[in-house]
Amino acid sequence: MKNVFEDVTCAGCCCVCDNIQVTTDGQQILDVQTTCPQGQAWFARSRQTNQLQPLISGAEASREDALTRAAELIQNATSPLLFGMGQSATEAQRAAISLADRIGATIDSGASASTRALQQVGEASCTLGEVRSRADLIIYWNAESLRANPHHQQSLNSGTDAISRKFVTVGASASDASADVDLALRVPVEGEFETLWRLRALLRGIALNGDVPSGLSAGELESLAALIRQSRYIVIFFGPAVSEDRLFHRKLEALSLLAREIQSERRCHTMNVPAAGAAKGAEPVLAWQTGYAAAVNFAVGYPRFSPCEYATVRMLEQKEADVCLLIGDAPLTGLSELALQELQQIPLIHVGPAPLSDLEPEVFLPTGISGIHSAGSLYRFDGTPLPLRALIATPQPSEAEVLQQLESLLTPVLPIC
Ligand code: SF4
Repeated sequence: MKNVFEDVTCAGCCCVCDNIQVTTDGQQILDVQTTCPQGQAWFARSRQTNQLQPLISGAEASREDALTRAAELIQNATSPLLFGMGQSATEAQRAAISLADRIGATIDSGASASTRALQQVGEASCTLGEVRSRADLIIYWNAESLRANPHHQQSLNSGTDAISRKFVTVGASASDASADVDLALRVPVEGEFETLWRLRALLRGIALNGDVPSGLSAGELESLAALIRQSRYIVIFFGPAVSEDRLFHRKLEALSLLAREIQSERRCHTMNVPAAGAAKGAEPVLAWQTGYAAAVNFAVGYPRFSPCEYATVRMLEQKEADVCLLIGDAPLTGLSELALQELQQIPLIHVGPAPLSDLEPEVFLPTGISGIHSAGSLYRFDGTPLPLRALIATPQPSEAEVLQQLESLLTPVLPIC
């Protein structure tokens, strides 16, 4: 018998579209009504998941043996690290945090840069619904993948009252000069910080000496300032950090200060956009469970936040983790080359719905896909939680269930005093 599900949520990327129609026969997905190829591919992955087997050192094993081996590796470690969770449901993220707490581990979502900026200067943000209803100027700053996403554009235009709005793109490569872009600025990555501060100075009426970053002209920056002055509600979508950009948090601070400057006379909100194809990450769940959105360490028995010490890239590059539990789909996103090399040197456990393509973990525990095989919730990149539904059956447990089983096998580690 066919089941038709309306308004299904897709967890294929940070947009988390919730208007998709899916037809199933209870065991298989028969049809997905979306024009997005990435969304189609995400639902199609459910076909492979059922065949996955738990692995120990690349050899098939029973789930009990794989869980026991994973528990041994974690229990024998002195500095376990949990990372990933980008496309995991809230329930799995909570289970991972609970596990990290039990064993005094470090857990990281990879968002330490935005967390640092947030704690220094705060952030004025809004939902996509507000952007759709109110924004009359939208700036995509290194967020071309979001601007080019037809589903994002569709959602901006789906309001009942059409809003006359202008669009600006800012990016390192040759900027998009398509018909719907009113101003396209080319700013090299190394010139972004200065450009943000120059724009802030311009809006405040302060004349600055020196040249603008190469690729950009003073006139273009003036034009952007003029567009901001003519607008009433400005939204800046700001692109993701690259792992080599060690001062990305300073850019986010400059962005928030720019937004604050604009807000003295008009509304301005900013939104940090994940990398192309990536999901929001575990920051909201980490923040409400521990008080910190990334780089949290439980070694002393309570959560401590220190991005300079507990960020995954730094811990791996400094060889400070002796086992790593990777959680969810594509958990290696955002890691540097050096960090990836270190992952080949330490025991690796992977809990997720698809095997890693680049690394072979010592233990692989397959799971179903949240939003296809199990229900739950997921955060959209504007911080709005959306429900996920179980559409078809699977013999695989959910990520949350595997993490809970693993935690039940671990004895609590006494805090380091
Ligand atoms: S835009 Fe993203 S969330 Fe929407 S259907 Fe495509 S992959 Fe899924």
